[in-house]
Amino acid sequence: MSEYKNFTLDTDAAGVALVTWDMPERSMNVFTEEVMDELEAIIERVAGDDKTKGAVITSGKESFSGGADLTMLQKILARFEKQKAKDRKKAVKQLFDDAGRMSWLWRKLETSGKPWVAAINGTCMGGAFELSLACHGRVVADSDAVKMALPEVKVGIFPGAGGTQRVPRLANPQDALQMMTTGRSLSPEKAKAMGLVHEVVAPGQLVDAAKKMIKDGLTSVQPWDEKGFKLPGGPVYSPAGANLWPPAIAILRRETYGNYPAAAAILKSVYEGLLVPFDTGLTVEQRYFTEILQSGEAAAMIRSLFVSLQELNKGARRPEAVPVKKFAKVGVLGAGFMGAGIAYVMAEAGIPVVLIDRDQAATDKGKAHSAGLMDKLIEKGRATKADKEKLLSRITATTDYAELKDVDMVIEAVFEDSDVKKEVIEKAEAVLKPSAIFASNTSTIPITNLAEFSKRPKNFIGVHFFSPVDKMKLVEVILGKDTSDKALAAAMDYARAIKKTPIIVNDTRGFFVNRCVLRYMQEAYSMLIEGVPPAMIENAAKMAGMPVGPLALTDETAIDLAQKIMKQTVRDLGDKAVDPRQVVLIDTMVDKFGRLGRKNGKGFYDYPAKPAKKRLWPGLKDLYPQRDPDGIDVQELKDRLLYAMALEAARLIQQGVVSDPREADVGSILSFGFAPYTGGVLSYIDGIGTARFVGHAKRLQRKFGKQFKPPKLLVEMAESGTTFYEQFPPTDASGARKAA
Ligand code: NAD
Repeated sequence: MSEYKNFTLDTDAAGVALVTWDMPERSMNVFTEEVMDELEAIIERVAGDDKTKGAVITSGKESFSGGADLTMLQKILARFEKQKAKDRKKAVKQLFDDAGRMSWLWRKLETSGKPWVAAINGTCMGGAFELSLACHGRVVADSDAVKMALPEVKVGIFPGAGGTQRVPRLANPQDALQMMTTGRSLSPEKAKAMGLVHEVVAPGQLVDAAKKMIKDGLTSVQPWDEKGFKLPGGPVYSPAGANLWPPAIAILRRETYGNYPAAAAILKSVYEGLLVPFDTGLTVEQRYFTEILQSGEAAAMIRSLFVSLQELNKGARRPEAVPVKKFAKVGVLGAGFMGAGIAYVMAEAGIPVVLIDRDQAATDKGKAHSAGLMDKLIEKGRATKADKEKLLSRITATTDYAELKDVDMVIEAVFEDSDVKKEVIEKAEAVLKPSAIFASNTSTIPITNLAEFSKRPKNFIGVHFFSPVDKMKLVEVILGKDTSDKALAAAMDYARAIKKTPIIVNDTRGFFVNRCVLRYMQEAYSMLIEGVPPAMIENAAKMAGMPVGPLALTDETAIDLAQKIMKQTVRDLGDKAVDPRQVVLIDTMVDKFGRLGRKNGKGFYDYPAKPAKKRLWPGLKDLYPQRDPDGIDVQELKDRLLYAMALEAARLIQQGVVSDPREADVGSILSFGFAPYTGGVLSYIDGIGTARFVGHAKRLQRKFGKQFKPPKLLVEMAESGTTFYEQFPPTDASGARKAA
């Protein structure tokens, strides 16, 4: 048995040690305190043993490593918060030491006097890639499965284990900055082209090739520790540096609007680090890392985009008692825009699909969507013709309902019309086996109403996808009045099988996502009516951190759809439920000007033929007298857009439509891209502080209307000084139906 829990160490006859990282009871290697302790002992042992010439480090798993265990980082931060209250200076010093532990351990490895080679056999992320960068050689398996990245910025932190110092000393600084500020993955070839790896070899030859580097006399001194080392992109103060840095700062500003302090810290760390000797550079990085770890953005993003996301993906709120359901075959009713996309993601996940529409031509067209998506992948070299055939062979395009007799589940995506839905529910249930689950993808019709058409309302549920289905990672799982735990568990197993993140939502008009996002678009309509220049509205949204402006988003979903929703709302809830000025705006766009959105090339934007870009429709400015832009408070526009959505989310929590803050937060980021740096709609309120948030909401209410009225729940939380995560601590499986 190995003396280490997470590593084995075998030294061959030539004196080359093979260190294999293979953590027990984990599907992926990650850095924990124990792993760091063991690695430190191994580094010392290799360094201190005269017979050992050098070491190769590889992984015993399919992937190399996912990097640091961020829950460990969360614990460090929780400890810091506690200590800070007692002794701030001491707490910061401790955090500084914790933040630098990995970095200085990698430095110890690269200055140990023995050559180390990383043999990267699979995905290698974050701290693990930084470990490999500290090795004197890097050999990578030539495989599509191998991805290397420093993705920390995506969760609000940055490469703090030497990444910001080593990457720009190996690669040209422009590529280095791009790689680290976007967190994008590199293929083996791309990494080699950038100068980040030495060799790309066939997977079977990986360890031998790595050992050979050592046997061939690989130096144990890194280039930056050699005398006369020159930076690959030239010094910072040089003509090349003058060409790089000013635009780099401008580009970062353009891309992030200053919302992501970690991205700015990468720039500062690289810039300052390249001006000083390597060890000082590591210290510069450690200081910025300590600062970033204390930012609200890091805490919020780690929680929502890493910890909560993982928990939800693993089915944190799935009813535990129900056995896991496997899907041998699934039916899709309606092969239109959504049904075709749903069939594709299932076939991609390896699930055989029966795709049904009214006639053969319609169902064939739905299947052709999958062929089209595969053709695009083939064009990009990401799939082969054989992959395409295999995927298409999983989709049976038919009009025959009898084909549904052995499916485990049906996803219904026919027209948004109760009569049509009733017809297909009855037709499908006539052949379905008793245990099969019926899931509707309706956007607006309450599941409880649709379940009335079913003979088995317990097996009836909503599974609400977003478009484009192959890109959007979220599904809302909607519970009807009679939906059973069995159906809920099955829907969550289904989401997992097709690699989507499920959130559990109780039946209500618009469910969770559309209720929030509608507020975003409506606030923009109000701004237009007030005479705020349209470009200011769109820019304010982007400055607030939204990926798509509210007018562009309306165009994407169609302005006539907004009109239909308004009309339906009036029918269901009466005239007062809509703002009459907004009705006039939307009616004018659709009925007077025929502007339906992107789909007819005319919406709030004009859509000229490519390569020309869309531009705001000039006629929009003539609809309302325009205000002087200099007299408009941009911060107030940003606040209005985000507050409108966050307040709606708070109302939905009060109404029990969603009950777990993780689901509201993750759902808001994965669906409408709610300013990710905030951690999501509820973390946004928590981050501002409920009392301050309510105070500002009331001010906005007085100035702009009742859409900013804070719900009672929020007012009470403000009075007692609680946050959403304190008031509604995330529930586990046993509390899964708490809100019901
Ligand atoms: P669509 O019009 O593109 O597709 C509907 C399909 O259903 C058509 O192919 C039609 O031929 C077929 N159909 C109609 N009657 C049928 C019947 N009796 N039997 C079999 N097939 C029949 O519509 P869509 O945008 O794909 O929307 C489908 C459902 O998904 C709706 O309930 C909609 O509310 C919901 N939805 C849409 C979106 C979106 O962004 N479009 C997002 C989420 C949910």
